Amino acid sequence: MDLLEYQGKQLFGAAGIPVSDGRVCTTAAEARAAADEVGYPVVVKAQVLTGGRGKAGGVKLAADADETERIAEGILGLDINGHVVRTLWVEHASDIEREYYLSVTFDRGAKKPLLMFTTEGGVEIETVAEENPDALVRLHVDPLEGFQPHHARALVYGAGLTDPSEQKQVSAIVEKLYRCFEQNDAMLAEINPLIVTPDGLVKALDAKVTIDDSALGRHPELAELRDEGAADPLETLARSKGVTYVKLDGTVGIVGNGAGLSMSTVDVVVVAGGSPANFCDLGGGASADSVVNALEVITADPQVGSILFNIFGGITRGDEVARGILAALERIDITVPIVVRLDGTHAEEGRALLAEAAPANLYVEPTMLDAARRAVELAR
Ligand code: GDP
Ligand code: MN
Repeated sequence: MDLLEYQGKQLFGAAGIPVSDGRVCTTAAEARAAADEVGYPVVVKAQVLTGGRGKAGGVKLAADADETERIAEGILGLDINGHVVRTLWVEHASDIEREYYLSVTFDRGAKKPLLMFTTEGGVEIETVAEENPDALVRLHVDPLEGFQPHHARALVYGAGLTDPSEQKQVSAIVEKLYRCFEQNDAMLAEINPLIVTPDGLVKALDAKVTIDDSALGRHPELAELRDEGAADPLETLARSKGVTYVKLDGTVGIVGNGAGLSMSTVDVVVVAGGSPANFCDLGGGASADSVVNALEVITADPQVGSILFNIFGGITRGDEVARGILAALERIDITVPIVVRLDGTHAEEGRALLAEAAPANLYVEPTMLDAARRAVELAR
């Protein structure tokens, strides 16, 4: 789960990383009042879950109350890479002498957190990595050893910082950022830019934090920050029903049991010349109710032209899935055709139940490929 800049800054602030005083607002009048409180000049910043806000006109300086209000009006409602701005962050503006970059992320290949620091901040880090790789210092932290002061020193000296006060401040921020990353179960904690003011103070001017979704149970206060308005409405519906669902942009709705089988089904639909509308995993031991829930979510997508059930019963029983499909057909008005491939535990019982009820628009196919071909054909 990605956090908005101001939410990330609140975590940074709590971790002791210097950030500017600011306020969250949703109207131009609130922005004006916020600016009066934090003091001029201010910077008005669009709060959307996408980068490059500055370039897109979503970050602007204002010298007084009228200008703040005018700028806030201009940024609210702005579309930045498909994200409409509904929230602003107004903070006291900083004078910038230099812009650095600092982050902690997971290096999945190395299975270790990775610290990255460069004095070439402010721009896209990918650009630095490509055009000036030597300027980017990369350093893994062994999770068993944990963070040690030598990690911060290696970054600071590696990047060529010579001013002792800057070395000290940056080192302290590296350690705090690492702790913040670790304590919040983050996947990414990035400061770009990390600035040095003309007075020689180092602080975080931006915050990009991603929390591990699987760890949200340990952080109820972070789970609450999820912006349901920004998420796909079908994914929100699925989450509320406890359905594992990922929206895709094709026309064949897919239901499998187990992530591996569901992903293979996505592949087979593509092989059969179709395009998947979603990924949906019933998991092991799926009940009739969970089948109904999954069908409710999938049929809520107007792009779906057919639905493909690919079930290989292990713990999941074929007859239970068949009952779920029949129950769903009774409870919800499903107009799109459903293709079912049932195999494994109690598959024969399941197929018998479906044959007995013989609902219109339901097709049972013997193999995964036959079922995929049929579903693709019916979706056209
Ligand atoms: P991003 O474009 O989404 O990464 O948003 P940032 O928060 O990084 O802001 C973009 C740019 O706006 C920064 O790199 C700074 O150059 C500039 N900026 C942001 N805050 C301030 C500020 O307080 N003072 C000044 N002078 N510039 C700022
Ligand atoms: Mn930035």
